[in-house]
Amino acid sequence: YSGKSNLDFYKDYIKEIKVDDIKSLPVVVDESTTVYDAIVTLFLEDVGTVCVVSKGLLVGVVSRKDFLKSAIGGVDINKIPVGVIMTRMPNIIVAKPEESIIEAAEKIIEHQVDSLPVVQDAEVDGVKGYKVVGRISKTNITKIFVDLGTKASI
Ligand code: ADP
Repeated sequence: YSGKSNLDFYKDYIKEIKVDDIKSLPVVVDESTTVYDAIVTLFLEDVGTVCVVSKGLLVGVVSRKDFLKSAIGGVDINKIPVGVIMTRMPNIIVAKPEESIIEAAEKIIEHQVDSLPVVQDAEVDGVKGYKVVGRISKTNITKIFVDLGTKASI
């Protein structure tokens, strides 16, 4: 008898799952995109957060609350680029594809955000930064939870 409880098996199983295994496609706009067009993207892509890039590198994220803030703040959404209202680097919490989903979930909870851009190190025109390769949200994590609670065996 190994002394392993069922909980230990779940723990070992979950620890093996990487961000890359469950990530969704990223939703990305350029920083020059107007706030209006970024809001349209948010609706069309059915997401809560959009990644903002400049020359292909991550420069920020913009979420529902940021759009609401800009609307009640009187921003001219047809003129102002999304880069002006986004949360910007280096304050963006990211996940790497090879990271465990436990680490990603801990970041989501600790920083009280809905999703993390999944990124890879990249260099464009001598500038080092992140290329956005996916996104991981509370929904991705919840799906794992549902799988664990409903699958007959894993
Ligand atoms: P919502 O606005 O839909 O409630 P969040 O709770 O995720 O979405 O966003 C709250 C704030 O945190 C916003 O200002 C947003 O720009 C910022 N934010 C969202 N995701 C991240 C992230 N991964 N790293 C840093 N800041 C983020």
